[in-house]
Amino acid sequence: MIIVMQAGASEPQIQRVVARLTELGYEHHISYGVEHTLIGAVGAPEGEKEALAGQLSLLPGVERVVPILRPYKLVSREHATEPSVVRIGKAPFGRGQVSIIAGPCAIESEKQILEAAKAVKAAGGAVLRGGAYKPRTSPYTFQGMGEPGLQLLSAAREATGLPILTEVTDVRQLEEVTRVADSVQIGARNMQNYDLLRECGQISKPVVLKRGFAATVQEWLRAAEYIAAAGNLDIILCERGIRTFETETRFTLDLGGLAAAKLETHLPIIADPSHATGTHKLVPAMALAALAAGADGLMIEMHPHPDRALSDGPQSLTPKRLKTLMDQIRPLVAALGLELISPERG
Ligand code: PEP
Ligand code: MN
Repeated sequence: MIIVMQAGASEPQIQRVVARLTELGYEHHISYGVEHTLIGAVGAPEGEKEALAGQLSLLPGVERVVPILRPYKLVSREHATEPSVVRIGKAPFGRGQVSIIAGPCAIESEKQILEAAKAVKAAGGAVLRGGAYKPRTSPYTFQGMGEPGLQLLSAAREATGLPILTEVTDVRQLEEVTRVADSVQIGARNMQNYDLLRECGQISKPVVLKRGFAATVQEWLRAAEYIAAAGNLDIILCERGIRTFETETRFTLDLGGLAAAKLETHLPIIADPSHATGTHKLVPAMALAALAAGADGLMIEMHPHPDRALSDGPQSLTPKRLKTLMDQIRPLVAALGLELISPERG
């Protein structure tokens, strides 16, 4: 880290900082400038840096303390310069490979999820999504089918061969969900549930980590670092819209944030235009824009009958609309020099 002294800081103030660094066992180097003196400090153990920076910033004559390394390591490009590929089942995300996740917001019945799975496959989607545990804003709305829903999702995988992705909202569901699902989703509302993140670091399935709608890119990457630090580097980040002053759309799809995050991390990043916009009418435009901005895949809500959906019907594509969108995605992905991975369409 670099300790920037205030303009005109006195020599005793500089020496006090140096004495504190020496006391803690860190090496230092002083650069006397015309206005500011800078003190470079090296050797602080990783876990102590943040607290130390806070302590040093309080010493007299210190203007600010600037960290040199990023606060996340394993997920950063410093750790792996090549982009990573993460697979859900056989569907790859990253390093030029694009896969599409689609399916209903929630699993509602055997008929519904089977119909949805077949439509996802027919359109060329690579992963089937569906929530059994739903984090709903109101406690009085449909909360998901729970365990029986997982069984139906598993049956839909049997019927189509598509790998399945479903959300965990609580550490207590993790064992049961990982037994069934090919991949686990951590929703926007749980992005900073650090116990859940740590537990997901112990599983051997890929984790889709959605960005909290009030989280900065840095907070999102630090959340991913929790999973990585606990042992699981199979992480796919998902930009799903953040809260802004705009009310025309449900959230604001932050494609600048997605592109910025891609510069920082080697992990694949996908976009969810459904929750971001809240209306099926805007999903195609934002899906295409996200791919153009560098997304390694998409998560799209599709319901066989959106007008009968128990949750998120207005933002759900019909099977026909999904197919039309996939027909637009194919030439775009090719023009971008990427490869769209679809299972055998049946
Ligand atoms: C979902 O994917 O169904 C969901 C609840 O998303 P988010 O956590 O982004 O709101
Ligand atoms: Mn939803």
